[in-house]
Amino acid sequence: MTLHFDFDNSYARLPDRFYARLGPTPVRAPRLIAVNAPLARALGLDADALTAPEGLAILAGNALPEGADPLAQAYAGHQFGGWVPQLGDGRALLLGEVVDRGGVRRDVQLKGAGPTPFSRMGDGRAWLGPVIREYVVSEAMHALGIPTTRALAAVETGEKVYRERPLPGAVLTRVACSHIRVGTFQFFAARQDTEALETLSAHVIARHYPEADGPLGLLHAVIAAQARLVARWMGVGFIHGVMNTDNMSVAGETIDYGPCAFVDGYHPDRVFSSIDRFGRYAYARQPDIAVWNLAQFASCLIPLMGPREAAIAAATEAVHAFPDLFAAEWAAVFRAKLGLATEEDGDVALIGALMDRMAAVEADFTLTFRRLADGTGREAFADPAAFDTWAEAWEARLGREPGGRAAAEARMRAANPAVIPRNHRIEEAIAAAVAGDLGPFEALTAALATPYADTDSPLTAPPRPGEEVTETFCGT
Ligand code: AMP
Ligand code: MG
Repeated sequence: MTLHFDFDNSYARLPDRFYARLGPTPVRAPRLIAVNAPLARALGLDADALTAPEGLAILAGNALPEGADPLAQAYAGHQFGGWVPQLGDGRALLLGEVVDRGGVRRDVQLKGAGPTPFSRMGDGRAWLGPVIREYVVSEAMHALGIPTTRALAAVETGEKVYRERPLPGAVLTRVACSHIRVGTFQFFAARQDTEALETLSAHVIARHYPEADGPLGLLHAVIAAQARLVARWMGVGFIHGVMNTDNMSVAGETIDYGPCAFVDGYHPDRVFSSIDRFGRYAYARQPDIAVWNLAQFASCLIPLMGPREAAIAAATEAVHAFPDLFAAEWAAVFRAKLGLATEEDGDVALIGALMDRMAAVEADFTLTFRRLADGTGREAFADPAAFDTWAEAWEARLGREPGGRAAAEARMRAANPAVIPRNHRIEEAIAAAVAGDLGPFEALTAALATPYADTDSPLTAPPRPGEEVTETFCGT
């Protein structure tokens, strides 16, 4: 067995002020929780070797693979609208970058690998709960077809971490097409370090948007990617929960699975995060918050965009394009959910009418859409009459689809997942794992690998009364 990471560490070749170079802090007694074999193979890694002692030592931060050049990235950010000039990787270390079998450069990062110069008051560690949550939800997002960071592995450290109580420590190996955030740009913009901004922009263009023409092209590309991403979140009822600028990837991947959640009973104002007291990051506010964050990104690029007046005008115009871009992406996502392949003027109103009715009775988001294809959508409603009056208009609209009913149903099944990572199932998997039973985690992960397949798995069911999880917590 050989474990060889084919590293090519382009971020580590950027100037010193982009990061702090340091290695992980070893842990006492690593134990494997999970290795993601398909992802390992995509990275050109031998999955069996990753589970062997040599691999386990690497995943725990007790050994460094050859060619690694570990570092903690510097970044800043707006958290809940408040400016924090220095955040950075306080509990994560980039081991290096591997170009995967598809030719995409991927960061391999250990999350929970020990303190760094950016740890502030934190211990640099993670506990098992958030590691399981991120593993489950990020891999579910990937299977749902939504751009996301991924989970290569999870290990327990054999050490306790102290949150309000002692909890089992863990390390997640996260894979991302990069960990560069809006907050990375803000870090340098706040320091008026235009040279670093130039370097960072060139790096991001080369890495993620090679077709983009300069900083304005980069801005347009990042805005388009976020419009696509947030529309896809909305399509599966996903609430990110902590859309701070340091948690917005410029590559357009979903990043940071802290207090995220999928809605069960739908309401546009739904919030789960325990710290989001004013609903800043509620389900339906996500596109507006994306605009807010992108405006911060735009302002970082202005110094690179030539004469100031013209730069501001161009950046403003780019940000103002977001609502239309988003609306188009959103309509495409939700048309598919209703089984529509063609476009009609009334479609957006039709979608809105269903969602209003769902919100009125907090119908289960996932089940309502999934059951449209079987004609049992009404069962997700406490008062099916509300659904029936809407369904008449929808059936008439479907009747104008050229491909016929079977094709529409196939589209619905491909756009409406049967199984999503429901909060109560994630909590159940975490509680079991803390008690030493990985069964529920493994069953959940397996079911979520094929979310659009027909299944009678109990994991499709909404929480029963008393099972609902209404609050989620930051993953520290
Ligand atoms: P997050 O809430 O994960 O987006 O993290 C926000 C900031 O807090 C980042 O700079 C993290 O690196 C830092 N941070 C979060 N948890 C810890 C921890 N346990 N130890 C050190 N830094 C942390
Ligand atoms: Mg974060």
